Amino acid sequence: KDLRESDGKSRYHALMMFTKVDKSRSLQDKFRVAMLSMVKHGRFLEGEVLVLHFVCDDASRELGEKMLQEFLLDAKFKYEVLFHDVSALTRKLFPIVEAMQKHFSSGSGAYYSDAIFFLSVAMHRIMPDSLTRMVQLDLDLQYRVNIRELFQEFHQFPPGAVIGIAREMQPVYRHTFWQYRKENPQTKVGEPHPDGLPGFNSGVMLLDLASMRASSLYNQLLEPDHVAKLADQYRFRGHLGDQDFFTMIGMEHPELFYSLACGWNRQLCTWWRDHGYGDVFQLYYRCNGPVYIYHGNCNTPIPDD
Ligand code: UDP
Ligand code: MN
Repeated sequence: KDLRESDGKSRYHALMMFTKVDKSRSLQDKFRVAMLSMVKHGRFLEGEVLVLHFVCDDASRELGEKMLQEFLLDAKFKYEVLFHDVSALTRKLFPIVEAMQKHFSSGSGAYYSDAIFFLSVAMHRIMPDSLTRMVQLDLDLQYRVNIRELFQEFHQFPPGAVIGIAREMQPVYRHTFWQYRKENPQTKVGEPHPDGLPGFNSGVMLLDLASMRASSLYNQLLEPDHVAKLADQYRFRGHLGDQDFFTMIGMEHPELFYSLACGWNRQLCTWWRDHGYGDVFQLYYRCNGPVYIYHGNCNTPIPDD
């Protein structure tokens, strides 16, 4: 399929959440690692452009513009940078995700500002129809390969799949689905890979926006009544935003998701090993095969080499 636009270029879109970065030295350090490693390995063909989207508040945008000038200096590919205002996106998002927030947000009420944690869930409704694919990436990543290769994973989606995502590598959903698992002792819900359904991690996501728009099933699942029904069925109460929503609907409709190899989002956090799940931890954490992207989640340092 020819994805060239009217100016003859084909664009590869990647989006990162970039808020309160001015207030966190640690987030700035992560951003540096992510961008320098992306630039180091990044190669694109003639006529191709990597478009970097950042969802920012004003202060983060100002800092981001400065930092990017430095980080993108050695880029051997064409790129464009777009900043999205977090409050403008939140305004559009809130009516769509308000009802699901109570199931997948921490605290009691559905807080307006938390809606942005569900951006990936409804991005197909927020972004212009001309945007047909988006890769959403955390800042606490280190790239070991050309990011262009990640986009090639879109071509592996089976029919019906709308999102590409890697599995969660801690037993967090073994914990979250505790009550459902007790009532359904034979279930695969929350069991480790490869036979079980350990849930998803949202650090690296391939959003096929065109397929998300076209899927009547996916859009039904966004409706408040459907979310409430599934949350009740699975006794689900989470606080991890989009990744909770994808994990829950993935239990019922795994065909909506293309499983990225674990090497595309090699999470390093070991928090649950030391909080009651040491006996099963390795079953979730292990990831054989090459690592393409390290994810230093829960502030875990990423190995130098
Ligand atoms: N993030 C942000 N500002 C913050 C905290 C997080 O923009 O103050 C974004 C950033 O892109 C980050 C993502 O939200 O990578 C998810 O947070 P984090 O990676 O810290 O969560 P973890 O992967 O450790 O669960
Ligand atoms: Mn992260």
